[in-house]
Amino acid sequence: MKEKIKIIKGDITKQETEAIVNAANRTLLGGGGVDGAIHRAAGKGLLLECMTLNGCETGKAKITKGYNLKAKYVIHAVGPVWNGGTRGEEKLLAGCYANSLRLALEHRIESISFPAISTGVYGYPPDKAVKVAVSETLKFLRENPDFREVVFVCFDEHTYRLYEAEMNQI
Ligand code: ADP
Repeated sequence: MKEKIKIIKGDITKQETEAIVNAANRTLLGGGGVDGAIHRAAGKGLLLECMTLNGCETGKAKITKGYNLKAKYVIHAVGPVWNGGTRGEEKLLAGCYANSLRLALEHRIESISFPAISTGVYGYPPDKAVKVAVSETLKFLRENPDFREVVFVCFDEHTYRLYEAEMNQI
């Protein structure tokens, strides 16, 4: 299952997987970081569709079309804000990955790219976040052997190294 996971350095808005995941906030109406980059690249159709969705709870995900992106779909996952780890952050972050992958499956999507959800403005320690991302993904791939590819798109070298280390450890 490990061979279906790819780790790359780059910009998620440029990915050609069938879906890309957005690290959104609960309004789903855009923000900074990767969210802003995705909305800029997708064009205003994305915001218009997001406005019909009535937001999204933390740990959950909703799907839209990809508009001007190469990806056909955007899956908007709402990560938790890090509060020291005592407010269910790990479970909520795991939910982002599990719910995004489940949505992909429901839409017959076979390839998906993830950013490092919650590790920017939301302050989740990247080393801990990477462990959650990899373990949830491997669990999903074991249960869904027909799924083709999961790409972790890292915006910085540090995050890239953490994913590499995690993958080498398992
Ligand atoms: P959050 O609010 O969930 O923390 P951020 O967008 O602030 O979301 O950051 C999440 C991660 O996405 C960070 O690791 C950040 O460096 C990364 N990131 C920012 N822009 C991009 C991009 N264009 N492609 C991929 N990752 C990105």
